[in-house]
Amino acid sequence: RANRLFHPEDTIIDVNGTKIGGQSPIAVMAGPCSVEGEEHMIKMAKLVKAGGANFLRGGAYKPRTSPYSFQGLGTEGILDLVKAREATGLPIVSELMDEAHIDEFEEYVDVVQIGARNMQNFQLLKAVGKMHKPVLLKRGLANTIEEWIMSAEYIMAGGNENVILCERGIRTFERATRNTLDLSAVPVVKEKTHLPIIVDPSHATGDYKYVESMAIAAVAAGADGLEIEVHDNPQCAWSDGAQCLKPDKFAETIAMCRKVAAAI
Ligand code: PEP
Ligand code: MN
Repeated sequence: RANRLFHPEDTIIDVNGTKIGGQSPIAVMAGPCSVEGEEHMIKMAKLVKAGGANFLRGGAYKPRTSPYSFQGLGTEGILDLVKAREATGLPIVSELMDEAHIDEFEEYVDVVQIGARNMQNFQLLKAVGKMHKPVLLKRGLANTIEEWIMSAEYIMAGGNENVILCERGIRTFERATRNTLDLSAVPVVKEKTHLPIIVDPSHATGDYKYVESMAIAAVAAGADGLEIEVHDNPQCAWSDGAQCLKPDKFAETIAMCRKVAAAI
């Protein structure tokens, strides 16, 4: 179902009127790694909107490497995102980790993110295949493009055709960056599938200093959008502070990305 051969035209996903894919303007999903409470979420939503975002991201259920790290605010975090959506009109993107939370996400979330660590959680993929919300499927930490497309296929086979792919870096021998951004995934995925593909330069590099250049490169490579972590005070972020852009830098980065998008 994801195969370009049987569906030559680009899939365009419409999230409450904001489109992703085809010739649509780049989709920009931005916000903190973790939701950090209502007041902060609303503040961040206003800041990323002013900086050019058209989606708000924030994790309420966090897939942390250590069980002793902050695990997310859970339902409270989802409700904080809803408040931020009410304040700004930005649709919300959040990660779903457990089938048990599907009803909550169906009710409150606009785009359901499946994180890298769950890319091959086939039971979860089958479950989101039955959902009525678009799915943002991140590439696994050590998965091939073929495996990633097969995971999209799991979701689509269940009847949910609204899948957006997200390249977020893969694990290689290189340790200078958190992961290695595989930008060639963008043209490869576009050749093989009709699905929109966005790039997450934050998790790909793990370092705020490299986010701008990789965001620009992603747009130049033909990405349909970006997912970028932004925090007003990165040193104090509850997770992934090292890779968060400050709001001013984010605005500058998006302005440059939109110029590149208009030029190609
Ligand atoms: C995230 O978006 O905060 C996240 C955990 O991403 P990934 O699944 O790509 O590591
Ligand atoms: Mn993160």
